[in-house]
Amino acid sequence: MRFAITARDDERSRTLRDQLEQELIARGSVLDAATPEIIISIGGDGTMLQAFHSYLSQVEDITLVGIHTGHLGFYADWRPEEMDELIRHIADENLATVEYPLLELSIDYADGSHNKLLALNECTIKSFNQTLVCDLSIRGDYFETFRGDGLCISTPSGSTAYNKALGGAIVHPALEAIQITEMASINNRVYRTIGSPMLLPKHHDVEIRPVNPIDFQLTYDHYASIVHQNVKSIRCRVSDKKVKFARFRSFPFWERVRESFLAEERS
Ligand code: NAP
Repeated sequence: MRFAITARDDERSRTLRDQLEQELIARGSVLDAATPEIIISIGGDGTMLQAFHSYLSQVEDITLVGIHTGHLGFYADWRPEEMDELIRHIADENLATVEYPLLELSIDYADGSHNKLLALNECTIKSFNQTLVCDLSIRGDYFETFRGDGLCISTPSGSTAYNKALGGAIVHPALEAIQITEMASINNRVYRTIGSPMLLPKHHDVEIRPVNPIDFQLTYDHYASIVHQNVKSIRCRVSDKKVKFARFRSFPFWERVRESFLAEERS
């Protein structure tokens, strides 16, 4: 099988990468960073986000798998001690996969240009130092005018990241949905927002139109600090594309949630 490895820039991850590379080649796999079938990310969930974006143009042809060299991750869920087992699976070329939904962002600019982006975790729209005011339309119909610090639109697999810190629900990645969560919305007798996180199904989209002409920040996954003064609208929906993760063994999502947030890691 053709493989590529992305590793976090720390000694443990680099050592593991060198070891893994040698052993996979010794077992007949081919190192091919340009057109890999499987990409092994070594580090944490942040490293997996980087791997995903590095191979975005090939997303439908690749499978990802993550080894964590820090704490258990949602994407990086193999431990270094399990490397031999992982190598066996890859060398056997018996690739079972699971697919996760992605977030598609369509951005329209005032000058008529537009841009499409994909996110594995989420996008956020945040003000710097003024209140962000934007109109939200769901499936083409006006829904509310949001006033506050910002909004987060997340995928199911991203629901355990920023979304969770904002009080959003944890969503099983088998559900093809996106979630909208608010950041410090203004709610009083004059201004109203729904206040609750909302899940949109695959056939719905949300369009966000900034109302006040302020600079704001658009982030997607680990990319941040993109200031958009001339954004007309941002449309978010479940992408038609999905990302594939290797499913060499059973490690149910809810078990990962429990081990990450409630209990000690498996020994
Ligand atoms: P970072 O600020 O260095 O790390 C953010 C943390 O989020 C890391 O602990 C990372 O895990 C974890 N993480 C990433 N994806 C996750 C997921 N799907 N489920 C659970 N935890 C996850 O930034 P980064 O490593 O480049 O990651 C970017 C992500 O940071 C964004 O996509 C956003 O979700 C998250 N973020 C969270 C907050 C917050 O919770 N208040 C604020 C800003 C950004 P690892 O340690 O395993 O890499």
